[in-house]
Amino acid sequence: MTDASSVLSEKSLLSLQQEALLAYNRAVCRRTAKQSGKGCKVSRGIFMRYEGDVYRPPSEARSLIIQVTIGCSHNQCTFCHMYADKQFRIRKKEEIMQDLDECREMYGPWVQRVFFADGDALIVPTDTLLELLQYVHRNFPAVERITSYGTAKDVLRKSEEELRALSEAGLQMIYLGAESGDDAVLRAICKGETAAEIIAAGQKLKRCGLKTSVTLISGLGGRKGIEAHAVRSAELINAMNPEYASILTLHLTENSPMAQEIARGERELLVPDEIVLETELFLKHIDSPGTVFRTNHASNYVVLAGTFNEDIPRLLRQLEEAKEKQRYRLEAWRRRL
Ligand code: SF4
Repeated sequence: MTDASSVLSEKSLLSLQQEALLAYNRAVCRRTAKQSGKGCKVSRGIFMRYEGDVYRPPSEARSLIIQVTIGCSHNQCTFCHMYADKQFRIRKKEEIMQDLDECREMYGPWVQRVFFADGDALIVPTDTLLELLQYVHRNFPAVERITSYGTAKDVLRKSEEELRALSEAGLQMIYLGAESGDDAVLRAICKGETAAEIIAAGQKLKRCGLKTSVTLISGLGGRKGIEAHAVRSAELINAMNPEYASILTLHLTENSPMAQEIARGERELLVPDEIVLETELFLKHIDSPGTVFRTNHASNYVVLAGTFNEDIPRLLRQLEEAKEKQRYRLEAWRRRL
């Protein structure tokens, strides 16, 4: 899964990614050239192919995005529109390798971060993933971090030996969209996973040396579900103790099944004060030392950043202040998503 993170259309992705990576790689290239005393060249003019909209977590903004799968194998969560128009498939290994070759041509060997998309790239058979990881390292010897989206089911389907092999081959972190720790919410959104499965997946990743970045979504339980969603989500994070956790705020597009539930009056979107209340409850129940926490997605009303548990009192003060002064990100801004 994916968190409903950042979307880039094919056109803007190509130009933005090309420009960002070119600028980035030029800087790395200059530094490397200076250190080694040798020259370097970053060529232009080759465009790799992307299929449909491409999503990535905010922290992968400077990464080379490689579509290992197209779409999401689950594709049923009622709030999610991201891959609705894509028929899920695993791309052919040769095609992915060709993309990596073109990127090497385009950006040179200095790429340092690679992100495997689409929705749940971890579903790809382990042998293929191992070959791809090796190929990334061969093409980009300076690569420091390779990450991917994955679902709890993908993790549980793989053996510990397979996950350890992936970690040793350089896969560093899995972005896991938990959405909620409350089974009632997970059932209502057709997540297809239980909180116990998500926790088991997070604990398994940790045992196997892979980092986890867990995403939750504020507002998914509706007004009546605020407390259960907040408290159970905190319990889920406590049980997983992931390296990273973030909360997005529910933001729907017209065509998603959940938007239609709202139109029919079957559920409601929370107002900013209620979202803050839910986040406060969540923070008050957290005990997950060392987890880096963020609410820095474009959908969030209040931007928070800190580390559990020591920063919780400050984060609570920030929420209180935002509520008192009604200092929330404007809806018009959020609608740019
Ligand atoms: S698992 Fe659910 S939220 Fe994640 S990409 Fe698939 S349909 Fe969307």
